[in-house]
Amino acid sequence: MKLFIPLFFICILTACKISQPSISSQEGYVEEELEVVRDTYVPLNNPEKIELKKDPYKKSRKIETDLIHTKLEVSFDWSSSRLLGKASITAKPHFHSLDHIELDAKGMQIKLVKLNERTLKYNYDGLKLKVLLDRMYSSKESYTIEIDYVSSPNDIEVKEGKAITSDKGLYFINPSGRDKNKMPQIWTQGETESNSVWFPTIDAPNAKSSQEIYITVKDKYKTLSNGIFKGSKSYIKGYRTDHWEQKKPHAPYLFMMAIGEFVEVKDFYKRKDGSKMEVSYFVEKEYEKYAKDIFGETPNMIAFFEKKLGVLYPWDKYHQVVVRDFVSGAMENTGAVIFGDFVYKTDKELLDENDQSTIAHELFHHWFGNLVTCESWANLSLNESFANYSQYLWDEYRYGKDEADYQANIEKQKYFDSGLESGYHDLIWYYYNDKDDMFDNHSYNKGGRILHMLRTYLGDDAFFKGIQLYLTNNAYRAAEFAHLRLAFEEVSGEDLHWFFNQWYTDKGHPIIQIKQTKFQGFPNKGSLGPNTGKVTLTISQKQNNDYPTFKLPVEVAIFDDRGKTIENIVVTSKKQKFNFSYKGTLKNILFDDQQVILGNIYSEKPRSQFVHQFYNSKSYNARLTGLKRATKKNNKESNKILMDALKDPFWNIRLEAIKIISGFGTEVFDRALPFLHKMAREDKKSIVRAAALRLINQNGEYSEGDWEDKYQLNFDLINSDSSYLVVSEAISGASKLNPDTTLERASKLEETPSIKLRFAIADLYLQYGSIDQFSFFESQLMESNLALQEGLEIQMLSILIQFSLKQKQIVLSLNKCYSLIFYLQVKGTEITKSYMPQIVDYYCSYISELEKTPENKEELESLLKKYKGLK
Ligand SMILES: [Zn+2]
Repeated sequence: MKLFIPLFFICILTACKISQPSISSQEGYVEEELEVVRDTYVPLNNPEKIELKKDPYKKSRKIETDLIHTKLEVSFDWSSSRLLGKASITAKPHFHSLDHIELDAKGMQIKLVKLNERTLKYNYDGLKLKVLLDRMYSSKESYTIEIDYVSSPNDIEVKEGKAITSDKGLYFINPSGRDKNKMPQIWTQGETESNSVWFPTIDAPNAKSSQEIYITVKDKYKTLSNGIFKGSKSYIKGYRTDHWEQKKPHAPYLFMMAIGEFVEVKDFYKRKDGSKMEVSYFVEKEYEKYAKDIFGETPNMIAFFEKKLGVLYPWDKYHQVVVRDFVSGAMENTGAVIFGDFVYKTDKELLDENDQSTIAHELFHHWFGNLVTCESWANLSLNESFANYSQYLWDEYRYGKDEADYQANIEKQKYFDSGLESGYHDLIWYYYNDKDDMFDNHSYNKGGRILHMLRTYLGDDAFFKGIQLYLTNNAYRAAEFAHLRLAFEEVSGEDLHWFFNQWYTDKGHPIIQIKQTKFQGFPNKGSLGPNTGKVTLTISQKQNNDYPTFKLPVEVAIFDDRGKTIENIVVTSKKQKFNFSYKGTLKNILFDDQQVILGNIYSEKPRSQFVHQFYNSKSYNARLTGLKRATKKNNKESNKILMDALKDPFWNIRLEAIKIISGFGTEVFDRALPFLHKMAREDKKSIVRAAALRLINQNGEYSEGDWEDKYQLNFDLINSDSSYLVVSEAISGASKLNPDTTLERASKLEETPSIKLRFAIADLYLQYGSIDQFSFFESQLMESNLALQEGLEIQMLSILIQFSLKQKQIVLSLNKCYSLIFYLQVKGTEITKSYMPQIVDYYCSYISELEKTPENKEELESLLKKYKGLK
C-alpha cells in the first residue's frame, strides 16, 4: 500500500540564539546561554495521512505436500516463444495422508499427467493444477508424477482474463534475431512466484526441492542453470541437450535458466579443503575482455563472507550471467546469478563506478535467502536486510569504514525519503497489499541499518556468532524473524524482544532532539577533581504516538581536557535528562559516538563543538555533520575548515567541501582555487577531480591569466585523464573557453565506448556544432549500442531534434532528420517508437511555422508533405 504524503518540512538549518530550557536551578549554578546551531526537524509523518490500510493478514503458505525433487526436460519454440516441457515431480504428503497434490502452474497447456505409466485425472484452472493420485499416500511415502506441458509466457491469460506482462517468469529476448544489436536469448526470473509459469511446482518460499534440468538447444547456444553441469548429449543433428543438476534443495523461486551465445570466462575459488570451485562469468563476446574487471572480486568476496559468517559457501558453484532487458537489477538464483546489462562496463568506465555492491548483495543471498529462506514474503527482510548489509561489510573490508559509512548514509536517506513519500510500515509486514510491495526501502535499506545497530549493540563476536547459529539451525529450511531473534538470544544470553518489537514488528524510527545545558561555577568536587563542570543533555523523542517510543542504548562521547570519554546511557522515554561531568573545557559532546542509530538526530549545540567534531571525530558521519554545521555561515572560521576539508583523507569530505564552497562567494573561491587546480589534476577519486574542475569552470569572472590556466587545465585533462567523467567535464569546460578547438578535439573522441562521454559530445555539438556534426548523431542512432539501454536512444534523439532545428541550413537539416526518423520508426526501440507520433507532429508544426521565402517555399512545402506522410 503506497500513500503519498504531501506535507513535510524541508530541513532548514539556522544558527540562532535560543534560551535553554529551565532546569530546576541548583544553588550556585548559573545556566550558560549558548549560541547553538539548531535544526528544524522533519517530522516522522503527518499522523492523519499515514493510516496504512490494514489489508488481510498475509500468512505463509500452508504446507500440505513436501517437494523432494524436480526434474525438468525442456526445449523451445523460439518463433512462437514457447517452452515445451516435461516435469517429473517427486513429493510426499507433509504430515496428513493425501490422495492428491496441488501445484502452481500459471497459464500452461497441460497435455498429460502420469504416475508409474498410469494416466492421472487432474483439474486445471489456469493457475492451479490439482492432480488426483492413484491412491492415498502417507507422509512416509513419496511418489513421482510426470507432467507434459507447454508454457507460453507471452500470450497466457490468467483466470480473470488479465494478461501477465511483468511476471512472465520466462522471457524470450529478440527471439527472431531481427534486432542486430541484441543477442537473442532466453532467461527466467522467478521471484516472487513467477517460475510456475515455466514449470509446475509449489511456488512458495517455504517449499524446497533439489533439481535437475535437461535443456535442449541449437548447438550454437550456451545454457546455464543452477548446480553442476553434468554433460551433454546430441539426439538431433545440430541440437544438444545439456544436463544440470543441483542436489541440495532450494526454493522454487531460485530455479533458473539462461540461454544465449554467451562467452564463458572462467575463474575459480579455492575452497578451504583446497579444492577448486567454478566461478564463471557469462557475458557477450564484446565484454569477454572486461569480465574479470567487472566480476573479478567475486572469489575474494566468497572468502571474506565465509570467514565473516563462519559458514562455508553452501552450493556447488558460483556463476554470474549478464542478460539484456532484465526486469530487475539482479537476481540471486542459486549458483547462477543474473545481472541486468547495467554491469557491462569497460575497465576505464569501472574507474568511475563499479558494481561490487550488487555483486556482494547477490552473493550474500546464497546464505540469506538461498540457504535459509524467508518463510513468507512478509518476512522478506530476512533475505534482503542481510543482502543489503553485505554491501556495508564488503565496503568496510575492501575500502574502509568511511566508505562503508558513506554508502550506509545514502541507504538510510533513501529509506527516509521513501517513508516520507509512501508511509512507514512494520519491517516484518503482514499487511502488504501486493507481495511486490515488500521489495522496498524498508526490507532492504532499513533492515540493513537495523542489523548494523544490533551488531554495534551486541559487539562483533556475539553478532556474527548469532548469525552463524541462525544459518546452521535453519540451513536448507525456511525461517521467520523469530528464528533470528532466538539465535541472537541464545548466543548473547539476553532477552531481545525489546529490540525486535520496536524494529521488526513496529514501524518508524526515532526523531531525536538533543539540547545541551552547561552549568558554570560547578563546585570543585566529585570524581573528576578540580575544574570539573557539569552538562545536561535533554533528550526528546519527537515522533508522534503512532510510532513506538524507542529504547536506545547510546554511547555518548565527552571531549574535554582529558581527551575523549565514553558514557553509556539508555534512552527509554519521550523526554529524559542525563547529566555528565567534564574536566576543564568542554569541547564537544557527541551523541551516538559511532553514529549507528537509524533516526533523525538533531543536536543543538555551539558551533565550536561542531568545529571540534569535524576535526576530532572518528566517524565519517560525525565529521560530515561537523563540517556542514560548522560552515553554515560564510566567515573566516568556516573558510579555514573548508580549506582543511579539501585536504581530507576521505574523498566525500573533499567533495562536500567543494559543494559548500560553490555556494559561497568569490573570496572563498579565490582562496580555494590553487587547491582546486591541484585536485582537478591529482585527486585520486575521479568524482572529486570532476567536481573540482566543474567549480573552476563555473566561476565566470576571470582575468586573462586565469583564462590561460583554465584553458590549459581543461585541455590537459581531456588529453590525459583516465576517467570519462573528468574528460566529459573538461569538454564542457573547454567548450566555453574555446569552442572551435574543443569541437576539433571532441571529434576524435566520437568512437569512445563511454555513453557518458558521447552525451557530453552531443551536448557540445548542440551548443556549438554545425550541420557537419549531423553524422555523429546518425551513427549514434543507427550504429551504436545506445538502443541496448532503456531510454538512451530517445534521449539522444531529443538532443538531435534541438540540434537539427538550430541549424542555419534548415532545409538540409530537416531532410537529414527525415531519413533518420523514417529509419527509427522501423528500427528504433519500443520507447522511441512510442514517441514517434509526437516527434513527427512537432516537426510538422515547426515546418508550418517557418517563414517561407520565394527561394525555399517549394522545398518547405514538400518537406512538410514528407513529414506528414510519416504519420
Ligand atoms: Zn536482494
